[in-house]
Amino acid sequence: MSSAKSPWTLSARAAKMNPSVIREILKVTERPGIISFAGGLPSAKTFPVAEFEAACAKVLRDDPSGALQYAASEGYAPLREMVAANLTQQASEQGQHWDVNPSQVLITTGSQQGLDLVAKILVDQGSRVLVESPTYLGAVMAFTPMEPEVVSVESDEEGIDLADLRDKARGARFLYTLPNFQNPTGRTMSEARRAALSKASGELGLPLMEDNPYGDLWFDTPPPASLTARNPEGGIYLGSFSKVLAPGLRMGFIVAPQAVYPKLLQAKQAADLHSPGFNQRMIYEVMQDGFLDRHVPTIRALYKSQRDAMLQALAEHFPDAATQPEQSLTWNTPAGGMFLWARLPAGMNAVNLLPHAVDKGVAFVPGAPFYASQADERSMRLSFVTPSVEEIRRGVAALASAIKEQQGR
Ligand code: PMP
Repeated sequence: MSSAKSPWTLSARAAKMNPSVIREILKVTERPGIISFAGGLPSAKTFPVAEFEAACAKVLRDDPSGALQYAASEGYAPLREMVAANLTQQASEQGQHWDVNPSQVLITTGSQQGLDLVAKILVDQGSRVLVESPTYLGAVMAFTPMEPEVVSVESDEEGIDLADLRDKARGARFLYTLPNFQNPTGRTMSEARRAALSKASGELGLPLMEDNPYGDLWFDTPPPASLTARNPEGGIYLGSFSKVLAPGLRMGFIVAPQAVYPKLLQAKQAADLHSPGFNQRMIYEVMQDGFLDRHVPTIRALYKSQRDAMLQALAEHFPDAATQPEQSLTWNTPAGGMFLWARLPAGMNAVNLLPHAVDKGVAFVPGAPFYASQADERSMRLSFVTPSVEEIRRGVAALASAIKEQQGR
């Protein structure tokens, strides 16, 4: 073995990076035969394979050099126009006038890249960044290399607590918020809370970073209008094609006001010059004839039936949830998206329960890693979109048996 000293010196920034706790957890759960409520993946049954096959052939036939050549950092113009038109129309259907101009749209390599680019242009070492409690771990991971002070704002089923926000907003660079079917909790911010948050952010001079990858996946009624639609100059909006088409193409977008767009564009150029032109054309071709209007309802129906199966199985196995919430597992009823948020009986800890649950054949993600501070050790995230209805029933039964055994000890 060589005793030579390593020639590599890591940056202070790199030292702050950590492996995703969730990916580490998923490794444990990826044993064959395990029913997984742990993954954050969309159901592969929803991927429009035939439409992508046709779009791929068309793009290569009609525009091979455009698709395969270097291109503009802003993104493929027809796709930017389509994104702007869709958001404008959606806002008007939700009773808001938000006139999105294509020049405000930046196509990104997944909305995950949007999180990284926004952090790069808005966060200095020590800058205060506000997040919900709990929040999307991937966003905190994207912010961390900029060395911010990440501060959690108290949150409940309706969204963030405005009194706590007012206490913590001073000097903050932005509030990162997920108003629709949040990852990890499945919560939706109420109309009243949105209106109040929009007003408060204006008064406080606090910009909002609105992340909305799940907004189209509602089950019964669409969610209230977006926060950015209410005050476009004070918000950056992140969207994604991952949950309505396919995550593997890594396609998302940012809508940003003129005050920050040029800097985002420079950050994008430095990061990857531009997102794949081939993938952008594929997405555009698939969406061109209003495909999402036919396709997204099928995803909603599938996910809703799976959510219902999970709710039903939970109610069967935990009949005391309403009357004795401290002695039972309790859970919320997400109105869309992919996740349900549950809480173990008093005295239990989701991290400790996990290996026992895996032995019984079921996996979930403990909630603690999603908290920037003061974790609720009893919380857990259950995804209902990848297992079948029959697997959901068996998985909940296995979870119930693991919980009851640990509780009895
Ligand atoms: N934001 C949230 C809240 C997410 O859950 C995800 C995906 N898990 C992303 C952003 C990133 O999505 P993508 O990069 O695939 O668009």
